[in-house]
Order: sequence, then C-alpha cells, then structure tokens
Amino acid sequence: MEKFDINKIRNDFPILKREVNGKPLVYLDNGATTQKPKFVIDAITNYYEEMNSNVHRGVHYLSQLSTDAFEVTRRKVQQFINAKEEAEIIITKGTTESINLVASCFGKAFVHEGDEIIISAMEHHSNIVPWQMLCEDRGAVLRVIPMNDKGELDMKAYEELLSDKTKIVAVAYVSNALGTINPVKQIIEMAHARNVPVLVDAAQAIQHIAIDVQELDVDFLAFSGHKMYAPTGVGVLYGKRVLLDAMPPYQGGGDMIKDVTFEKTTYNELPFKFEAGTPNIEAGICFAAAIDYINSLGIENIKAHEDELLAYATQKLKAIAGVRIIGEAEYKSSVISFVVDGVHPYDIGVILDKLGIAVRTGHHCAQPVMDRFNIPGTVRASLALYNTKEDIDNFVAGLTRALNMLL
Ligand code: PMP
Repeated sequence: MEKFDINKIRNDFPILKREVNGKPLVYLDNGATTQKPKFVIDAITNYYEEMNSNVHRGVHYLSQLSTDAFEVTRRKVQQFINAKEEAEIIITKGTTESINLVASCFGKAFVHEGDEIIISAMEHHSNIVPWQMLCEDRGAVLRVIPMNDKGELDMKAYEELLSDKTKIVAVAYVSNALGTINPVKQIIEMAHARNVPVLVDAAQAIQHIAIDVQELDVDFLAFSGHKMYAPTGVGVLYGKRVLLDAMPPYQGGGDMIKDVTFEKTTYNELPFKFEAGTPNIEAGICFAAAIDYINSLGIENIKAHEDELLAYATQKLKAIAGVRIIGEAEYKSSVISFVVDGVHPYDIGVILDKLGIAVRTGHHCAQPVMDRFNIPGTVRASLALYNTKEDIDNFVAGLTRALNMLL
C-alpha cells in the first residue's frame, strides 16, 4: 500500500482544508457525491483556457483538440471497466440517464404486454421508476426480489421469479441506502441461463470495487462520474454491442444521425447513435483526469482502505447505546446507515452539520428500503478514499454529543 499515502491524498483535495460552521470539515456524504482532486479541478480550468469548443463537429484546431480529449475519456472508461470496444461506451449525463436510456430503448425493442422485468427491493428510485414507466407504457409487469432483515437479496426468491416472461433484470451492485454488495456475478449467471440480459447499476460500486464487464459478462452497466471524483453532468452506459445495435436511438438530434431528409433519417453508428446533441464537454473531458487519479492510487488499494474504515466505523457505532445499524449484510461497501430509536434522523443531521460533519439523512432516494425496515429514514455516513479514522472519531464524538442533546 505504498501508493496510498493518506496525508498526501487529503492534500490533493482543496475542499478538505475548509471549515464548516467554524469546525474542520468532516465529509461523509460521498454516496451523494464525491469531492474533486486538484488534478480534476485543474483539468476543468485547462479545458476552458486551452480548448473550449464543440466536439465531433468542427474541422478547426480547437474542435479537434476537444474531440480528441473527449474520446480519450471514452477510451479510459473502456479500459477502466475492460469493455471489448470503445463503441460500447455511451457517454450520458449520469446513472439516471443511462438507466432511462436502457428502459426506453431496450423496452421499445424487446418488452411487450405481459412480459416481466425483475428489479430488487433495494434499488435507488433511478432503478425503479424508469422500469415502472416502461411497464405502464407496454403493459408489462414489475417483479421485485425481496431481501432479508440483514439487507441481503433472497436468491431463492430470485430463482423463482425468473421465468420465460422475464425480459431483463436490473439490480444495484451496491445499495446506496444499506451498503450491501449484491452477488451480481451469480445474478447474471442465473439470468443468462434463461437468456435474460442484466443491467447493473454501479453508481455506488464503480468508485470502490474493481469492475471487469467481460469477466462479469454483464449486459449493461450504468454509473456516474460525480461519484468517482469527476465533475457532475457526465456518466456512462456500457452495453454489449449486440444489444445496443438492436435498440432504437434514445433521443433525436445532432450527432446521432448519418443522413437526414424530411422523408427519412438514418442513424449514426455506435456510440454516437445514443449521444444526441452537445454533451457536457467539460465534464466529459475531465472525467479522464478522475480515472487517471483513481488509477494512480489503484482501485484495490482504495478498496482496502475503505473496507478498513467501514469496519472501524461499524465497530465504533455499535458501541453507542441506542444506535441500530440498518443493513448488516455479510458483504458491504463504504456505506453505513443507522437509526436511533426515538430520534428523527434529520435532527441528528442538523446537529452534526453544526459540528462541521456532513452526512445524509432521509430515505436516500430508496423509499421502498425504508418501508421494508419500517423506518422513515436513516442517517447515512458514506466513505471515500480520502476519509480517515480521525474523520470517523470526529463523527462518533459528534453523534454522541447530538444524542446527549436529543435523548
Ligand atoms: N443508483 C444508485 C445506487 C445511486 O446511489 C444513485 C445516486 N445516489 C443513482 C442511481 C443515481 O445517480 P445520478 O443521480 O448520478 O444519476
């Protein structure tokens, strides 16, 4: 772990030096979005100072520079997840758009009345609502894999849900509300045994766990740049070429066409067929810097560091009287959610904020998870590569103080 010098890493993130409410910032809301290293912030400035121009259009020098830089990101994403070809990397606005794209386009091509779509009980709203909308549109039926009290999927129930009617399975790799790491490889193998493709929502996995799409044999993978140290407004849909080729375009507009006449339009090749209009060029280009940054540290080293912190935080929280952790799966990543009976999560969040500690409170865009555990919401601390045991100690001290005031 020589590469992983936490003091040096923290120095890379300017915002971590600031104070909030007169206290040093303790940032534990990384599941919502991560902070950006200077390396990425400099890339943003460099983009506007050196190459700002539209992509895939101009013959002029700057446009070629920005197009090349945008395409470098595509190549780096391809390598990062080990996709077979660059054309399988669609640049989107983020996870939400990536999932909507599949629900809409795969849905148009393959989902009909009476067909079934399987999701899980621990999905983010982004991986529920697009499928509900599709079901409503096509007269299809949404099926949900239940979970146990520890927040683990019931794989036997999943086996029983899979049928000849199933058209696609869509599950989170890591639950944003519970931290559960789902057995996606097994989920994919079981679906493929019935020729059913699988979409994996990797929004909370890509920044913590090494993902090899060919090894997983996943059909679609969705994630967001902003949760992996890149700017907001950019994300990825990976899809197998055979499926992407069989799907109609998502939106119509510039870039996604080959020829347009009023009688008929022909569509561009992959990946451009799914990339209508001017993308978020700045974010798209600077995404490459975030991937370089992660690679410079090594995703395995990041995982080891975060796993150690998660174990430390879990043990510390369990020692506080009244704290009940929601989601105690055997395999977890970077998220610790909890409630304190008799105290509203929001009140804890407000007091922690006064102490400079940023956590998220509420349902975390996963209302069905809260319903499953019969709670209104949780307090969620979510970790990133720059967090430390000192952050956890400050958080635990702040929580203890908050509970002394509230209980
Ligand atoms: N899925 C999961 C598991 C998430 O955690 C999130 C973000 N909280 C999303 C989807 C949606 O990501 P975005 O808002 O970046 O599109």
